[in-house]
Parts: sequence; C-alpha cells; structure tokens
Amino acid sequence: MPSESIFEQQRQTMVIEQLRGRGIRQKAILNAFLQVPREEFVPLELRDHAYEDRALPIGHRQTISQPFVVAWMLALLNLKPTDRVLEIGSGSGYVLALLSHIVREAFGVERIEVLATAAQERLARLELANVKIKFGDGNDGWIEYQPFEKILVSAGGQEIPERLKSQLAVGGRMILPIGDEPRNQKLVQVDHLQDGSYKVKRLGRVSFVPLLSGTRQT
Ligand code: SAH
Repeated sequence: MPSESIFEQQRQTMVIEQLRGRGIRQKAILNAFLQVPREEFVPLELRDHAYEDRALPIGHRQTISQPFVVAWMLALLNLKPTDRVLEIGSGSGYVLALLSHIVREAFGVERIEVLATAAQERLARLELANVKIKFGDGNDGWIEYQPFEKILVSAGGQEIPERLKSQLAVGGRMILPIGDEPRNQKLVQVDHLQDGSYKVKRLGRVSFVPLLSGTRQT
C-alpha cells in the first residue's frame, strides 16, 4: 500500500492534470481537492486506485463519483464561502468533505443506512465540523435546514424533485443529473430567480447511479 506521501503526490497530480488541466479554474475548488484524502473514502483494497479519474465501487452497488465530474458540478454551482449547501446521495461522504472546505455549512442525505453511518464516521475522523449527514430519502430534501443557497444531487433521476426545488433559496442554484436511462443523464441547472420563477438549463452528459425512492437498512 502506498505511504501517506505517495497519496499526497497522487492527489497533487490529480488536481493539476485531471482538474486544472481540464478547465477547472476556481482556486477554492482545487484547494478543497488538495485537502481531502480520497483514499479514505474508498474501500481499503481500492486505495491504490483512489486518484484515478473515475468512479469506484463503495459497496451496496454504489460508487464514489468521478473527481472531474464532481469538480465540474461544484464549479457550476458557483459556490460562495457563505453558502449552505445540500447534497443528495452522499455515499462515501467525499463531496461533503470537499464542500466543508469551500462553504459555510454542508448537509447530506443518503438513503442506504450503512453508507450514511460510515460517511458520518469518516467526516468525524477528519474533524470536519461544518458538515451534517442524515439517513433518509433525499427526494424529501432536509426540511429542518432549508432553504439552501445551493443543492447538488449525486444520483440520476428522471425528473427534478419538486421538494428539492422548494428548498432552494431565492437566488439559489441546483445542479442535478436527469435522464430516462440508468447511468446516462444530462446535467441540469435549475436557478431560483429573484421573481420566484425557476430557470432550467440543460448541460453536458454524465453517468450516475440511479436516484431511488425510499430508504434501505443494508
Ligand atoms: N457523492 C457520493 C456519490 C455516491 S453514489 C460519493 O462521491 O461518494 C450516489 C448515492 O446516492 C448512493 O450512495 C445512493 O445510495 C444514493 N441515493 C440514491 N437515491 C437516493 C435518495 N433518494 N436519497 C438519498 N440518497 C440516494
């Protein structure tokens, strides 16, 4: 298994080649990727692959998202240090850890209980205090902490969940993958405009695991 410093080197290479090299320019985002040890968010036997630019299995038929796609979604969100951000489909907790370095507070919802618990433990171990995660169906958002300036959905659904729209602050933005086929979606940007209306814009193609309904214990 590579030592700490090798992971650190791989992390720097990932940021320079896969993120900055492919057009991610925001310093706060690049810095967050330098701060978060992705190897801590993948199963032990996959740690050697932690800095490849691809999704990796995290058990329960789920994956940790591809770094470039995460960076792209974070860039599209136009994050501000004062933002409170909701992530649906937190899986390993990697995106929440990144968010914790960029914004004021990050909230995550995960529908598989064991993943939510493991993510919670990881975030605590990394001493990320401005992050909260709960086990639940993300289609419902997180009513207690709404409205959110930004929302990102890390799983692909067929339509924009109405309850998430309603938890988006005026002036806020949501980025989510939408598509009829599993693992083949288009990123969609939803802006909640000052006049109260929503503006929807379709962006490029992505491949996410499905956004499902309900919750699962194991
Ligand atoms: N951001 C995560 C991505 C995990 S994959 C990471 O990088 O690790 C997507 C996750 O969405 C899975 O863990 C899956 O269980 C979860 N998911 C799917 N539908 C959901 C829903 N309705 N509510 C909450 N989580 C959901």
